[in-house]
Amino acid sequence: MRPDLFEHPDYYLLDELLTDEHKLVRDATRDWVKRDVSPIIEEYAQNAEFPQQIVKGLAEIGAFGPYIPSEYGGAGLDQISYGLMMQEIERGDSGVRSTCSVQSSLVMYPIYAYGNEEQRMKYLPKLASGEWLGSFGLTEPNFGSNPGGMVTNFKDMGDHYLLNGAKMWISNAPFCHVAVVWAKNEEGRIHGLIVERGMEGFTTPETHNKWSLRASATGELVFDNVKVPKENLLPNKSGLGAPLGCLDSARFGIAWGAIGAAMDCYDTALRYSKERIQFDKPIGAFQLQQKKLAEMITEITKAQLLTFRLGQLKNEGRATTAQISMAKRNNVDMALTIARDARQMLGGMGITGDYPIMRHMMNLESVVTYEGTHDIHLLITGMDVTGIPAFK
Ligand SMILES: Cc1cc2nc3c(=O)[nH]c(=O)nc-3n(C[C@H](O)[C@H](O)[C@H](O)COP(=O)(O)OP(=O)(O)OC[C@H]3O[C@@H](n4cnc5c(N)ncnc54)[C@H](O)[C@@H]3O)c2cc1C
Repeated sequence: MRPDLFEHPDYYLLDELLTDEHKLVRDATRDWVKRDVSPIIEEYAQNAEFPQQIVKGLAEIGAFGPYIPSEYGGAGLDQISYGLMMQEIERGDSGVRSTCSVQSSLVMYPIYAYGNEEQRMKYLPKLASGEWLGSFGLTEPNFGSNPGGMVTNFKDMGDHYLLNGAKMWISNAPFCHVAVVWAKNEEGRIHGLIVERGMEGFTTPETHNKWSLRASATGELVFDNVKVPKENLLPNKSGLGAPLGCLDSARFGIAWGAIGAAMDCYDTALRYSKERIQFDKPIGAFQLQQKKLAEMITEITKAQLLTFRLGQLKNEGRATTAQISMAKRNNVDMALTIARDARQMLGGMGITGDYPIMRHMMNLESVVTYEGTHDIHLLITGMDVTGIPAFK
């Protein structure tokens, strides 16, 4: 891949709204991505391999638990810093951002918010330092958009729980040290359980043949009569609202992350449009190409404003699930459209790994599906404005 010459677009001077800390976090993350992700990511994506060597660096920049309090090893930052960090990391690659989202919002967050003090002290520092990586098991082979139908279950055996079932499409599964798993008890109530690698009957086969998020490992979590100690149940929240609460936090990060992928595609296409000569002119001189660039920067700017306001609301504890859904849906769709247009602007070069666009485009096909599909988020907005659920 070519050298990373990224310059971030800021058409509405949004930097003026950021605090010094926001800019520091954003710039430090960007520098790290330029140094440690950009030079290697294409090769790892081509080889369908997660770059394990970046885990330490991710921990050092605070990407594991950015908003988890420092007494548990987190970075103790606000939600806008968290968002900016996800933006910069996804600018490098959506797969790397996925690993951070899972670790922070789907593993550390439930342990922090729904766990007891012993669980927090046992797991959070190890997860924040990257010594342990976690995964989040909600989706099942027959229950994706409808996770409430899950069949994974646990029985109370007196001194332990017995867990059975299987989860599918689980990011980080093949190498996770711990998994936060959602399963039903004998009354059909959903609870979170912390399952550790090494527990007998727990296996994590890898899912191969993905054309998307190739630098992120995906797999299954299989539970065959796994004895889970009783102290591994998350005690402070149960029901479907518990995993959905984690998804709110992860989707917020995705809404910011998608802007990063879109910015990278726009920046690449803009630079290419000034350098590539056809019919004796840079292609950027043609109206059709300018239309694409003008629409890209307009949509990126709108998405930046959406997420900035959402970040303010989240900092105040006022961001609703439906508002987060709207931002996730809008921004990922925006990024996918920009990736497709940017790829066309590079002509044949756009399909090569010399440029990041095709990788972003393929990654975003997963991002538009996971953490609630494009259609499901539309139904959430529809339900919010009408008061009528249209899921069934
Ligand atoms: C790379 C990758 C990583 C992932 N990582 C994780 C993870 O770490 N943990 C985890 O738990 N899950 C993970 N997922 C799973 C992801 O969240 C699901 O794929 C997603 O929720 C959709 O479920 P599904 O694939 O079963 O599709 P389905 O639910 O079968 O949906 C298929 C289609 O039907 C549509 N549809 C479904 N219901 C309705 C309805 N009521 N009305 C209208 N349309 C509807 C959907 O929008 C979609 O277009 C991951 C997925 C991918 C691809």
